[in-house]
Amino acid sequence: MMTDSEIQTAREDLAAAFRWSARLNMHEAVSNHFSFAINDDGTQFLVNPAGIHFSRVKASDLVVVDLDQSLPAPAQGGPDPTAAAIHGAMHRNNPQARCVIHLHPKYVTALSTLENPTILPIDQNTARFYNRVSYDIDFGGMGLGDEAERLSAQLGNRSIVLMGAHGAMTVGQRVADAFDDFYYLERAAETLMTAYASGQKLRVLSHDVAETTAQQWAEYGFDLRGAHLSEIKSILDVEEPEFRH
Ligand SMILES: [Zn+2]
Ligand SMILES: [Zn+2]
Repeated sequence: MMTDSEIQTAREDLAAAFRWSARLNMHEAVSNHFSFAINDDGTQFLVNPAGIHFSRVKASDLVVVDLDQSLPAPAQGGPDPTAAAIHGAMHRNNPQARCVIHLHPKYVTALSTLENPTILPIDQNTARFYNRVSYDIDFGGMGLGDEAERLSAQLGNRSIVLMGAHGAMTVGQRVADAFDDFYYLERAAETLMTAYASGQKLRVLSHDVAETTAQQWAEYGFDLRGAHLSEIKSILDVEEPEFRH
């Protein structure tokens, strides 16, 4: 069980991640969701309420969903129905997925529409994801009911699902982990889609080099992911400090 101060930190981390995703144009206004499990079996989690623009989410705006209780309706401050369904299934079925970030940004979504959406290792950022993404190609409509259960099972022991014809989800122990993975996932997709757009043949890294690079990302000498979110919060503390309220 989390302490009140740990929950407040999770709220502030999520609010910062929402606002930064808006600045990076990785958002869809009032749609898409980030969530954070606050109990061990994932049946209680924080998530953004329906209808608040990503650029102005505050820590106190996030609602606690308890899957054992009835949910408030979206018009009464409750979450988007697909948020409750997909994120509820993700947290319940994958207790390692404390934080779940779900977005449909431009390049990830474009990549998700290709017949072969595999992130080929063609540079350092794309190699970070070599053999580390679960590719879902069975899109069945908006993420409600069976679709939510299916997506949550698709994660397996990975931390990233590229959702065909949809977008992506990243999960992690901390908001910083899932957010940093999503940031680099969109960067990698941008590089790959731009390279494809040249029409030239790609020079794909060898298995050994790609695998070594992915391991180097995972075992990097200091906490890059934590530093990334911490720097974002420092910028927001100056420019829009109300995110912590
Ligand atoms: Zn979605
Ligand atoms: Zn979602």
